[in-house]
Amino acid sequence: MSSGASRTPSDLDAIIVGAGHNGLVAACYLARAGLEVLVLERQPYIGGAAVSRRLYEDFTYSNCSYVCSLLRPEIIRTLELPKYGLQVIPYEGGCTMMQGGGHLALYDNHDALRREIARHSKRDAEAYDRYSRDVMRQCKFIKPLLMREPPDPTSFKPRDLKELLYLGKRFHGLGEERMYDTLRFWTMSAADFLDEYFESEIVKAHFAGSSIIGTALGPRSPGSAYVLLHHYMGDIDDTVGAWGFARGGMGAITKALGASFEGSGGAIRSAAPVAQILVRNGRASGVALADGEEIHAPLVISNLDVRRTFLDTMDAKDLPDEFLRQVKNFKIRGSSGKLNIALDGLPRFLDMLIPSQIDPTMVPDGKHYMSVFVQYCPYELADGPWDAAKRTAFGDTVINTIARHSPNFKELILHAEIRTPWDIENEVGLTEGNIFQGELTMDQLLFNRPVPGYAQYRAPVRGVYMCGSTTHPGGGVMGAPGANAARAVLRDLGRAH
Ligand SMILES: Cc1cc2nc3c(=O)[nH]c(=O)nc-3n(C[C@H](O)[C@H](O)[C@H](O)COP(=O)(O)OP(=O)(O)OC[C@H]3O[C@@H](n4cnc5c(N)ncnc54)[C@H](O)[C@@H]3O)c2cc1C
Repeated sequence: MSSGASRTPSDLDAIIVGAGHNGLVAACYLARAGLEVLVLERQPYIGGAAVSRRLYEDFTYSNCSYVCSLLRPEIIRTLELPKYGLQVIPYEGGCTMMQGGGHLALYDNHDALRREIARHSKRDAEAYDRYSRDVMRQCKFIKPLLMREPPDPTSFKPRDLKELLYLGKRFHGLGEERMYDTLRFWTMSAADFLDEYFESEIVKAHFAGSSIIGTALGPRSPGSAYVLLHHYMGDIDDTVGAWGFARGGMGAITKALGASFEGSGGAIRSAAPVAQILVRNGRASGVALADGEEIHAPLVISNLDVRRTFLDTMDAKDLPDEFLRQVKNFKIRGSSGKLNIALDGLPRFLDMLIPSQIDPTMVPDGKHYMSVFVQYCPYELADGPWDAAKRTAFGDTVINTIARHSPNFKELILHAEIRTPWDIENEVGLTEGNIFQGELTMDQLLFNRPVPGYAQYRAPVRGVYMCGSTTHPGGGVMGAPGANAARAVLRDLGRAH
């Protein structure tokens, strides 16, 4: 990684705190607009939750995020990520298994999937097209909002009024019936939503899976239908809702972003934890690293979640009390764990997420890598904090559960990285291990994300900005918060992008 050490402090226009994918996206846009930008990353490697690491021999793990769909195509194009090595390979199929032994195989091919659903319920196969159409309609409504700054509904500034008008027009454009549907959809539970289409438990269980990923909600919680939608908003090669693997793991995305940024003259300094965002005369003046070194710049853009940014790296005296109260109330609840498993071969009778089947670059010849995302894995345990024994017990539970469906699975295991929410918090800096830097519930979306009145990437202190998943439109490897934050910075500087 290149070093920022050669720069004189006065060179810098902006410091980005954190080299997660959003920090890097923001950095790329700012560097391309001609700003001198330095990215400071706490870990000795970049990527945050979009990272590939070799922890065992020649096996590459996607340590946190593992599948790609949400990354905005306009970001991929503008930042020339394919030129910097990014390749996304669509993956087809999968399987939902029931404890009693039944399964639903999933196919990319529409007719094949309908036939499989019909095996469980002919009525559900008929309903599937109606379901897909309605979900896509919601996606179509929301997608254009992803790369826009949410309006402040209490403001009379021309920009806010224009954005509110845009939102209103799009909403009105849905037509009377769909307007009602959309409001219901944003607030209802996934279970209620799915009940309106399907009767088969396994079909509903499969679709409900996306409604609980990364959240402490259950499928019957109000608001979980929106979480389901969040997982349909991406596309691969123009196929809406499709998912794929980044060749070389999710770190390939941040590697390409890092290279694109450096290609525009930016510098990244890793193993450089920021301890404090410095404020002088009411505006940002730079940062202090954990070892006391100060680096000065008039703009500081934080990739950290809203709590870490304002409660851990800023002085309370620099922030309004009411703002701090709302920051403390922002919900960030951990609910997910992860296992990354090196396998000596392909397990029998099992269809789990095995990226090496499609991307052999991640493993030595004949070996395989399995990625297991686990929910619910709570941050707080009933009998006290996570420790090494509890981590092992968690790993055993997951491995034993998989082994029930695959007779030779255990014999194939060469190495397993077991990650509890506590590990994810400590390593990646995601509070409670929450994968979205904050729950994606209606009370924390759009102009309420992360704090009402501060949803436009700007902090209450001039020169301090937020660019992480904690801001609109939320988490996942999407890049939209980073791009939107960079646009806000450039607008404040009087430079468009
Ligand atoms: C287990 C897991 C599985 C997931 N699966 C998927 C998936 O398959 N697909 C998908 O799209 N999304 C997935 N996600 C969600 C997605 O990965 C995240 O929402 C997203 O990567 C967050 O990106 P970010 O840039 O906003 O923040 P982060 O990735 O959290 O980046 C923040 C960066 O700041 C750094 N940092 C923290 N503190 C400091 C400090 N004091 N000084 C300097 N640097 C600091 C961190 O080290 C980190 O690099 C998953 C997440 C997890 C944890």
